[in-house]
Amino acid sequence: MTDELNPFEIAQSQLDTAAELMQLEPAIHEFLRWPVRELHVTLPVRMDDGTTEIYHGFRVQYNDARGPTKGGLRFHPHETIDTVRALAAWMTWKTAVLDLPLGGGKGGVICNPKAMSPSELERLSRAYIRQVGRILGEDMDVPAPDVYTTPQVMAWMMDEFSFMRGYTVPGMITGKPLPLGGSAGRGDATARGGMFCIREAAALKGLKTEGATAAVQGFGNAGQYAATLGSSLLGMRIVAVSDSQGGIYNPAGFDAEALVAYKLRTGSVVGFEAADTVTNTELLELDVDVLIPAALENQITAVNANKIKAQIIAELANGPTTPPADEILYDKGTYVIPDFLCNAGGVTVSYFEQVQNAYKFYWSEKRVNDLLDEMMTAAFHCVAVAATEYGVHNRMAAYTVAVGRVAEACKLRGWV
Ligand code: NAD
Repeated sequence: MTDELNPFEIAQSQLDTAAELMQLEPAIHEFLRWPVRELHVTLPVRMDDGTTEIYHGFRVQYNDARGPTKGGLRFHPHETIDTVRALAAWMTWKTAVLDLPLGGGKGGVICNPKAMSPSELERLSRAYIRQVGRILGEDMDVPAPDVYTTPQVMAWMMDEFSFMRGYTVPGMITGKPLPLGGSAGRGDATARGGMFCIREAAALKGLKTEGATAAVQGFGNAGQYAATLGSSLLGMRIVAVSDSQGGIYNPAGFDAEALVAYKLRTGSVVGFEAADTVTNTELLELDVDVLIPAALENQITAVNANKIKAQIIAELANGPTTPPADEILYDKGTYVIPDFLCNAGGVTVSYFEQVQNAYKFYWSEKRVNDLLDEMMTAAFHCVAVAATEYGVHNRMAAYTVAVGRVAEACKLRGWV
């Protein structure tokens, strides 16, 4: 992995720039460059054919000054500790920029869930909790779904943890299925929060979302809802989408619901009717109004940033843009809605889920969506004001807001 593409080094360098801008004291700056705690685990899992596979996993608790750490859990063949550290750092800034009473954490297991049966996945999920459960809990650290982990995985993990405690503990994990204490509105919350940000960014740029064109890279949870809500909430024309197998393009726009049904049936968007094929690289450079990266890290780099034509980039994925690319996009006038603001809808509704679990009282979907709109819109404008105040791009502005809040909590607690 080169320095430019090591996500943790990217996260640290983003913090370094913010620290300089804010003239953060050296001790607090150094403290915030590192996770406060991390656990590495080795997991033996019995496979369906009777053999035993050994998996490696992590849980990183980056900073808990403002409350229990919170962050997703990934099952991915290319998972690395540095990716998990970076994602845990970004979770810390994300909960802070939304002003949630939480810290940031993240977890991962190196595995290929696509090659595993449901029962193998269940045994892996339970094995992870048997090792990591000792540092989890509703007041300590609360995981959630992320890449290739599902509400079913959350349900198995909640069940295993509950057996360890001796009673049912729904609040130890979020993104659960509704019958186990999940929240209405959690399924599409990440994309919905992103749509609220696009609406506000378009208003600032004087762009009408009705009829605006959009391309979505990645067609999983975040990307599929971005396509359907982009059409239904904002009236955008979704002209290109992609997944790990490739991309499709139709300037007339796709029926997003039909695309989701097709992907569900065939496993990919590739081959959908009346579409040209595009590579994932070409998709990023299409002449569209809004580009929505919703796949993995490091997609927009110094190599392709100059070729991006979109006016607004709404980062539903974590870490899709490298720091050199950020500078190029800022100079070009591209309006980037940074990941830890744009995709904060998921953790915000996860927080609502924790609140509902604690009170054992559940809200309507409308109440969840309205409250999400209120909180995302407030956070968006807080960042927009900081961008003008400091004269920096939105990512750096979001850092100043978030780092300022976490630093203040660390100081008030007497840590630095
Ligand atoms: P997911 O596993 O549901 O979907 C990932 C999608 O990306 C799949 O369609 C996959 O085919 C596609 N993909 C993989 N490699 C690709 C490539 N090289 N090019 C194009 N597409 C590729 O995951 P998700 O939950 O939708 O998460 C996607 C991104 O959004 C991640 O960065 C994740 O951290 C971030 N995110 C998700 C949530 C959430 O609530 N789901 C919340 C915050 C952030």
